[in-house]
Amino acid sequence: MSKRKTDATLYYDTVGRCPLCGSRHIRHRYHIIRYAPSFDIDRCSACGFMFMNPRFTGNVIKQLYGEGYYSGTSEYSYHDERQTETYSRQVWDRRIDVIRRSVASGNLLDVGSSFGGFLKAASRYYVPHGIEMSAYAGEYSQQTFGDRVHVGTLEDHPFGCGYFSVITMIELLEHLPDPVVALKECHRLLRDNGLLLIQTANMDGIQARILGGSYAYFMPGHLSYFTKKNLTMALALCGYRTIKVFYPVEFGLLPKLKKSRYAFASPWDYRTWLRIAAYHYISKIHFLNFAATSSMVIYAIK
Ligand SMILES: [Zn+2]
Repeated sequence: MSKRKTDATLYYDTVGRCPLCGSRHIRHRYHIIRYAPSFDIDRCSACGFMFMNPRFTGNVIKQLYGEGYYSGTSEYSYHDERQTETYSRQVWDRRIDVIRRSVASGNLLDVGSSFGGFLKAASRYYVPHGIEMSAYAGEYSQQTFGDRVHVGTLEDHPFGCGYFSVITMIELLEHLPDPVVALKECHRLLRDNGLLLIQTANMDGIQARILGGSYAYFMPGHLSYFTKKNLTMALALCGYRTIKVFYPVEFGLLPKLKKSRYAFASPWDYRTWLRIAAYHYISKIHFLNFAATSSMVIYAIK
Protein backbone atom coordinates (compact mmCIF):
# COMPACT_ATOMS: atom_id res chain seq x y z
CA MET A 1 0.00 0.00 0.00
CA SER A 2 1.33 3.44 -0.88
CA LYS A 3 -0.01 6.94 -0.56
CA ARG A 4 -0.10 9.41 -3.41
CA LYS A 5 -1.44 12.20 -1.25
CA THR A 6 0.29 13.53 1.80
CA ASP A 7 -2.89 14.64 3.59
CA ALA A 8 -4.02 11.38 5.22
CA THR A 9 -7.14 13.04 6.67
CA LEU A 10 -8.59 13.47 3.18
CA TYR A 11 -7.72 10.24 1.40
CA TYR A 12 -7.62 6.50 1.86
CA ASP A 13 -4.57 4.56 0.91
CA THR A 14 -4.32 3.65 -2.74
CA VAL A 15 -6.41 0.62 -3.71
CA GLY A 16 -4.13 -2.00 -5.24
CA ARG A 17 -6.81 -4.14 -6.89
CA CYS A 18 -9.78 -3.37 -9.12
CA PRO A 19 -12.81 -3.06 -6.79
CA LEU A 20 -15.01 -4.71 -9.45
CA CYS A 21 -13.02 -7.70 -10.78
CA GLY A 22 -10.03 -7.94 -8.41
CA SER A 23 -7.36 -7.54 -11.11
CA ARG A 24 -4.06 -5.95 -10.11
CA HIS A 25 -3.66 -4.44 -13.60
CA ILE A 26 -4.75 -0.91 -12.86
CA ARG A 27 -3.46 2.23 -14.57
CA HIS A 28 -3.77 5.93 -13.80
CA ARG A 29 -6.31 7.52 -16.17
CA TYR A 30 -7.27 11.08 -15.19
CA HIS A 31 -6.26 13.77 -12.72
CA ILE A 32 -9.37 15.88 -12.06
CA ILE A 33 -8.33 19.36 -10.99
CA ARG A 34 -11.55 21.34 -11.35
CA TYR A 35 -12.49 20.50 -7.73
CA ALA A 36 -10.61 21.21 -4.52
CA PRO A 37 -9.20 18.91 -3.36
CA SER A 38 -8.37 17.41 -6.74
CA PHE A 39 -8.65 13.66 -7.20
CA ASP A 40 -7.36 10.86 -9.43
CA ILE A 41 -9.20 8.27 -11.50
CA ASP A 42 -7.64 4.86 -12.24
CA ARG A 43 -8.82 2.33 -14.80
CA CYS A 44 -8.68 -1.47 -14.60
CA SER A 45 -6.98 -2.89 -17.71
CA ALA A 46 -8.85 -6.19 -17.29
CA CYS A 47 -12.48 -5.01 -17.06
CA GLY A 48 -12.40 -1.27 -17.87
CA PHE A 49 -13.85 -0.25 -14.51
CA MET A 50 -12.76 3.26 -13.46
CA PHE A 51 -12.60 4.38 -9.86
CA MET A 52 -11.34 7.18 -7.66
CA ASN A 53 -7.95 6.16 -6.31
CA PRO A 54 -6.95 7.02 -3.65
CA ARG A 55 -10.48 7.49 -2.34
CA PHE A 56 -11.81 10.08 0.07
CA THR A 57 -12.28 8.83 3.61
CA GLY A 58 -15.74 7.97 4.92
CA ASN A 59 -15.82 11.21 6.92
CA VAL A 60 -15.10 13.33 3.86
CA ILE A 61 -17.79 11.48 1.90
CA LYS A 62 -20.32 12.01 4.68
CA GLN A 63 -19.57 15.73 4.77
CA LEU A 64 -20.36 15.91 1.05
CA TYR A 65 -24.02 15.06 1.74
CA GLY A 66 -24.98 17.70 4.29
CA GLU A 67 -27.53 20.46 3.73
CA GLY A 68 -25.19 22.25 1.32
CA TYR A 69 -25.28 19.29 -1.07
CA TYR A 70 -29.03 19.67 -1.51
CA SER A 71 -29.28 23.46 -1.31
CA GLY A 72 -26.64 24.05 -3.96
CA THR A 73 -24.43 26.06 -1.61
CA SER A 74 -21.62 23.47 -1.68
CA GLU A 75 -19.11 23.37 -4.50
CA TYR A 76 -20.29 19.82 -5.17
CA SER A 77 -24.08 19.84 -4.99
CA TYR A 78 -27.36 18.30 -6.10
CA HIS A 79 -30.80 19.82 -6.39
CA ASP A 80 -33.28 19.50 -3.54
CA GLU A 81 -35.92 17.21 -5.06
CA ARG A 82 -38.62 18.65 -2.76
CA GLN A 83 -38.66 21.82 -4.87
CA THR A 84 -39.32 19.92 -8.12
CA GLU A 85 -41.36 16.99 -6.79
CA THR A 86 -44.48 17.67 -8.89
CA TYR A 87 -42.39 17.51 -12.05
CA SER A 88 -40.14 14.62 -11.01
CA ARG A 89 -43.28 12.67 -10.19
CA GLN A 90 -43.91 12.35 -13.96
CA VAL A 91 -40.76 10.24 -14.27
CA TRP A 92 -41.18 8.37 -10.97
CA ASP A 93 -44.78 7.33 -11.77
CA ARG A 94 -43.81 6.09 -15.22
CA ARG A 95 -40.84 4.16 -13.78
CA ILE A 96 -43.13 2.46 -11.26
CA ASP A 97 -45.49 1.48 -14.11
CA VAL A 98 -42.58 -0.25 -15.90
CA ILE A 99 -41.28 -1.94 -12.73
CA ARG A 100 -44.76 -3.40 -12.18
CA ARG A 101 -44.44 -5.36 -15.43
CA SER A 102 -41.66 -7.38 -13.71
CA VAL A 103 -42.86 -7.38 -10.10
CA ALA A 104 -46.41 -6.22 -9.33
CA SER A 105 -46.31 -5.72 -5.55
CA GLY A 106 -44.45 -6.38 -2.29
CA ASN A 107 -41.77 -4.58 -0.30
CA LEU A 108 -39.70 -2.04 -2.26
CA LEU A 109 -36.36 -0.63 -1.11
CA ASP A 110 -34.90 2.54 -2.62
CA VAL A 111 -31.19 2.74 -1.74
CA GLY A 112 -30.23 6.41 -1.66
CA SER A 113 -33.85 7.41 -1.10
CA SER A 114 -33.05 11.09 -0.52
CA PHE A 115 -36.15 13.00 0.67
CA GLY A 116 -38.46 10.09 -0.21
CA GLY A 117 -40.07 11.47 -3.37
CA PHE A 118 -39.67 8.22 -5.29
CA LEU A 119 -40.94 6.25 -2.27
CA LYS A 120 -44.16 8.29 -2.34
CA ALA A 121 -44.65 7.32 -5.99
CA ALA A 122 -43.84 3.66 -5.17
CA SER A 123 -46.33 3.58 -2.31
CA ARG A 124 -49.21 3.36 -4.81
CA TYR A 125 -48.37 -0.33 -5.32
CA TYR A 126 -45.54 -1.29 -2.95
CA VAL A 127 -44.70 -1.03 0.72
CA PRO A 128 -41.94 1.61 0.46
CA HIS A 129 -38.64 1.40 2.36
CA GLY A 130 -35.50 3.50 2.06
CA ILE A 131 -31.83 3.66 2.99
CA GLU A 132 -30.35 7.15 3.04
CA MET A 133 -26.85 8.02 4.20
CA SER A 134 -27.60 11.73 4.57
CA ALA A 135 -29.22 12.45 7.96
CA TYR A 136 -30.45 15.75 6.53
CA ALA A 137 -32.51 14.04 3.79
CA GLY A 138 -33.22 10.74 5.57
CA GLU A 139 -34.65 12.26 8.75
CA TYR A 140 -36.94 14.43 6.65
CA SER A 141 -38.39 11.36 4.89
CA GLN A 142 -38.77 9.55 8.24
CA GLN A 143 -41.54 12.08 9.00
CA THR A 144 -43.56 10.27 6.30
CA PHE A 145 -42.19 6.73 6.36
CA GLY A 146 -40.99 6.32 9.96
CA ASP A 147 -38.64 3.42 10.60
CA ARG A 148 -39.09 2.12 7.06
CA VAL A 149 -36.40 4.65 6.13
CA HIS A 150 -33.03 3.75 7.61
CA VAL A 151 -30.57 6.61 7.99
CA GLY A 152 -27.33 4.80 7.23
CA THR A 153 -25.96 2.48 4.58
CA LEU A 154 -26.35 -0.96 3.03
CA GLU A 155 -23.83 -2.13 5.64
CA ASP A 156 -25.76 -1.23 8.81
CA HIS A 157 -29.48 -1.50 7.94
CA PRO A 158 -32.03 -3.62 9.88
CA PHE A 159 -33.72 -5.35 6.89
CA GLY A 160 -33.78 -9.14 6.60
CA CYS A 161 -32.74 -11.65 3.95
CA GLY A 162 -35.27 -12.07 1.09
CA TYR A 163 -37.49 -9.26 2.42
CA PHE A 164 -37.74 -7.18 -0.77
CA SER A 165 -39.46 -7.74 -4.12
CA VAL A 166 -37.87 -4.67 -5.69
CA ILE A 167 -34.66 -2.75 -4.93
CA THR A 168 -33.84 0.47 -6.78
CA MET A 169 -30.46 2.20 -6.96
CA ILE A 170 -31.11 5.32 -9.01
CA GLU A 171 -27.91 7.29 -9.56
CA LEU A 172 -26.52 5.66 -6.41
CA LEU A 173 -24.03 2.93 -7.34
CA GLU A 174 -21.44 5.41 -8.61
CA HIS A 175 -21.29 6.90 -5.08
CA LEU A 176 -20.18 3.63 -3.47
CA PRO A 177 -16.53 2.64 -2.92
CA ASP A 178 -17.21 -1.11 -3.09
CA PRO A 179 -20.01 -1.81 -5.58
CA VAL A 180 -19.60 -5.61 -5.48
CA VAL A 181 -20.42 -5.68 -1.76
CA ALA A 182 -23.54 -3.61 -2.50
CA LEU A 183 -24.67 -5.84 -5.41
CA LYS A 184 -24.23 -8.95 -3.24
CA GLU A 185 -26.10 -7.38 -0.34
CA CYS A 186 -29.01 -6.43 -2.65
CA HIS A 187 -29.03 -10.01 -3.96
CA ARG A 188 -29.29 -11.28 -0.36
CA LEU A 189 -32.10 -8.82 0.42
CA LEU A 190 -34.14 -9.75 -2.67
CA ARG A 191 -36.59 -12.62 -2.77
CA ASP A 192 -36.29 -15.10 -5.66
CA ASN A 193 -37.43 -13.45 -8.92
CA GLY A 194 -37.02 -10.06 -7.24
CA LEU A 195 -35.85 -7.08 -9.31
CA LEU A 196 -32.80 -4.86 -8.86
CA LEU A 197 -32.96 -1.61 -10.88
CA ILE A 198 -29.73 0.33 -11.43
CA GLN A 199 -29.34 3.69 -13.13
CA THR A 200 -25.74 4.80 -13.58
CA ALA A 201 -23.55 6.11 -16.40
CA ASN A 202 -22.11 3.86 -19.10
CA MET A 203 -18.53 5.08 -19.54
CA ASP A 204 -18.32 3.26 -22.87
CA GLY A 205 -20.75 5.84 -24.26
CA ILE A 206 -19.25 8.06 -26.96
CA GLN A 207 -20.11 11.10 -24.89
CA ALA A 208 -17.83 9.91 -22.05
CA ARG A 209 -15.09 8.70 -24.39
CA ILE A 210 -14.80 11.98 -26.29
CA LEU A 211 -14.86 14.22 -23.21
CA GLY A 212 -12.35 12.10 -21.23
CA GLY A 213 -11.34 13.71 -17.94
CA SER A 214 -13.40 16.81 -18.67
CA TYR A 215 -16.63 14.78 -18.61
CA ALA A 216 -18.82 16.42 -15.94
CA TYR A 217 -19.66 13.01 -14.48
CA PHE A 218 -16.23 12.96 -12.81
CA MET A 219 -17.05 14.62 -9.50
CA PRO A 220 -15.99 14.20 -5.86
CA GLY A 221 -19.01 12.09 -4.81
CA HIS A 222 -18.59 9.62 -7.66
CA LEU A 223 -16.16 6.90 -6.64
CA SER A 224 -17.12 4.19 -9.22
CA TYR A 225 -17.51 4.46 -13.01
CA PHE A 226 -18.98 1.49 -14.89
CA THR A 227 -19.49 0.35 -18.44
CA LYS A 228 -22.48 -1.67 -19.58
CA LYS A 229 -20.13 -4.59 -20.12
CA ASN A 230 -18.40 -4.69 -16.73
CA LEU A 231 -21.55 -3.92 -14.73
CA THR A 232 -23.57 -6.70 -16.37
CA MET A 233 -20.58 -9.00 -15.80
CA ALA A 234 -20.46 -8.08 -12.10
CA LEU A 235 -24.22 -8.62 -11.76
CA ALA A 236 -23.94 -12.08 -13.30
CA LEU A 237 -21.06 -12.97 -10.95
CA CYS A 238 -23.16 -11.80 -7.99
CA GLY A 239 -25.90 -14.27 -8.95
CA TYR A 240 -28.43 -12.22 -10.95
CA ARG A 241 -29.77 -14.46 -13.69
CA THR A 242 -31.66 -12.18 -16.11
CA ILE A 243 -30.12 -8.84 -16.98
CA LYS A 244 -31.73 -6.34 -19.34
CA VAL A 245 -30.23 -2.99 -20.38
CA PHE A 246 -32.33 0.00 -21.49
CA TYR A 247 -30.99 2.95 -23.50
CA PRO A 248 -31.34 5.68 -22.27
CA VAL A 249 -34.07 4.70 -19.77
CA GLU A 250 -36.85 2.13 -19.55
CA PHE A 251 -39.65 4.60 -20.32
CA GLY A 252 -40.43 6.95 -23.18
CA LEU A 253 -39.73 10.60 -23.91
CA LEU A 254 -42.95 12.20 -22.63
CA PRO A 255 -42.30 11.93 -18.85
CA LYS A 256 -38.86 13.51 -19.38
CA LEU A 257 -40.37 16.42 -21.29
CA LYS A 258 -42.98 16.96 -18.59
CA LYS A 259 -40.31 16.83 -15.86
CA SER A 260 -38.12 19.39 -17.65
CA ARG A 261 -40.80 22.06 -17.24
CA TYR A 262 -39.73 22.64 -13.62
CA ALA A 263 -37.00 24.96 -14.90
CA PHE A 264 -39.15 26.85 -17.40
CA ALA A 265 -39.53 30.60 -16.93
CA SER A 266 -41.14 31.50 -20.27
CA PRO A 267 -42.79 29.77 -23.25
CA TRP A 268 -39.46 30.13 -25.07
CA ASP A 269 -38.06 27.46 -22.77
CA TYR A 270 -40.06 24.85 -24.65
CA ARG A 271 -37.22 25.02 -27.19
CA THR A 272 -35.21 22.80 -24.82
CA TRP A 273 -37.66 20.01 -25.66
CA LEU A 274 -35.90 19.72 -29.03
CA ARG A 275 -32.59 19.10 -27.28
CA ILE A 276 -34.10 16.64 -24.82
CA ALA A 277 -35.89 14.76 -27.61
CA ALA A 278 -32.72 14.62 -29.75
CA TYR A 279 -30.70 13.27 -26.79
CA HIS A 280 -33.38 10.70 -26.01
CA TYR A 281 -33.47 9.26 -29.51
CA ILE A 282 -29.70 9.46 -30.11
CA SER A 283 -29.25 7.54 -26.84
CA LYS A 284 -31.13 4.62 -28.35
CA ILE A 285 -28.26 3.99 -30.78
CA HIS A 286 -26.24 1.08 -29.42
CA PHE A 287 -24.53 -2.02 -30.72
CA LEU A 288 -22.71 -4.64 -28.61
CA ASN A 289 -20.64 -2.44 -26.25
CA PHE A 290 -21.02 0.70 -28.34
CA ALA A 291 -23.49 3.30 -27.10
CA ALA A 292 -24.07 6.80 -28.41
CA THR A 293 -24.51 8.36 -24.95
CA SER A 294 -23.71 7.29 -21.42
CA SER A 295 -27.33 6.94 -20.28
CA MET A 296 -28.46 3.46 -19.30
CA VAL A 297 -30.77 1.66 -16.88
CA ILE A 298 -30.32 -2.00 -15.94
CA TYR A 299 -33.01 -4.41 -14.70
CA ALA A 300 -31.50 -7.50 -13.03
CA ILE A 301 -33.64 -10.38 -11.78
CA LYS A 302 -32.51 -12.63 -8.92
ZN1 LIG B 1 -11.45 -4.84 -13.15
